[in-house]
Amino acid sequence: MDLHCLGGSQEVGKSCFLLDTGELRIVMDCGMKVHDHNEGPVIPGKVDVGIITHAHLDHSGCAPLLYKRNAPKTFCTYPTRPIMDLLLADSEKIARAENKQLPYASQNVKQLDKHLACLGYDEDYEFKDGSNFRFLDAGHVPGSAQILFKKGKRKVLYTGDFNTGYTRLHHPAKPVKADVLIIESTYAQRDHEPRKDVEKAFAREVEKALGDGLTVLVPAFAVGRTQEILEVLRAHTKAPVFVNGMGKKVCDIIMDYPSYIKSPENFAETMRNVTIIQGKSDEKKAFREPSVIVSTAGMLDGGPMLSYLDKCNQKNSAVVLLTGYQVEGTNGYSLVNEGRVRSEGIEKVIQLPVKHFDFSAHSGRIELFNYVDAVNPEKVVCVHGDACKDFAEELKNEGYDAFAPAVGDKIKL
Ligand SMILES: [Zn+2]
Ligand SMILES: [Zn+2]
Repeated sequence: MDLHCLGGSQEVGKSCFLLDTGELRIVMDCGMKVHDHNEGPVIPGKVDVGIITHAHLDHSGCAPLLYKRNAPKTFCTYPTRPIMDLLLADSEKIARAENKQLPYASQNVKQLDKHLACLGYDEDYEFKDGSNFRFLDAGHVPGSAQILFKKGKRKVLYTGDFNTGYTRLHHPAKPVKADVLIIESTYAQRDHEPRKDVEKAFAREVEKALGDGLTVLVPAFAVGRTQEILEVLRAHTKAPVFVNGMGKKVCDIIMDYPSYIKSPENFAETMRNVTIIQGKSDEKKAFREPSVIVSTAGMLDGGPMLSYLDKCNQKNSAVVLLTGYQVEGTNGYSLVNEGRVRSEGIEKVIQLPVKHFDFSAHSGRIELFNYVDAVNPEKVVCVHGDACKDFAEELKNEGYDAFAPAVGDKIKL
């Protein structure tokens, strides 16, 4: 078996791995570098099967590219399908608005839709050569999966993005034994603060701001983060909570697939206590009294949150609690580092206090090392990170046969 690393190797973005078994050419993930001119992977030759681990665009954003040459069957989990539809449509809309090219044709999107098949967690799908694969819960975002591929006695586990840490929304990812482990390395150099401490600090900040008569603005990613934050707020505060942006649609999708989250009861209870902003009157209500508003964009590049930020900045009437990593070049990054954002082409100085909380959906450093030990593979391929090489080097020092391939590299598995 060969692994061609077509993207997401010594980088975060456009994750794409071609597993060539000799009989089948299976492409695992087909992502896009959203913050880097919508770059996609270059897939050499034909594809027999596509498998998408989760809906984040760095894993699914170029899934239509799988249909450039032929029409393979592509698999994802049940909730991933509607979330991916939502994100692909949004990325098309943004590309059009910004006059940017996408690396695939709209015809390819239709083909993907026609050939996309869903599979639940822990269900085997058998290929015609006798090999098979199954999705395992990755604990990262709703519907996220690891891929366990089996050919004869040989097992390959690709983690996609995964989290073994505690969250309110998801069961943690669980390791299984495999001969080859392809593991994401996003936080290989950094441990997360214990989640319960992060929750408490976040809740304290919320209560303090509300006590001071302020609005609490919580920019949050639509997929997973919005819902996690809503659950955290439900657990820690009685404050009025409003939600807006694309996260609303993801909340609806999650309600349709209750078995994909840890506690559908808790989530339903959370949603009953949240006001979904449907129009101007809900928005007015949100600003009438001290309240919490959770909305996209998580990095403040548009969405309702950017206009709320502007509105509150003029009156100095809010605090901003960031809940995710802010990529360089985004408004979130310039807000944290320079106290400015760009809105409708105009640069604005933001006076509001800004705090950051680590609600990451990725395994931290210690969890990554523990995972490798639990899977106990013969070979480890470190991908999806800025420091994959360092991670592989450390694993080598522990006695593992570890690699950090670059884009374009081919590895014998
Ligand atoms: Zn992800
Ligand atoms: Zn990712």
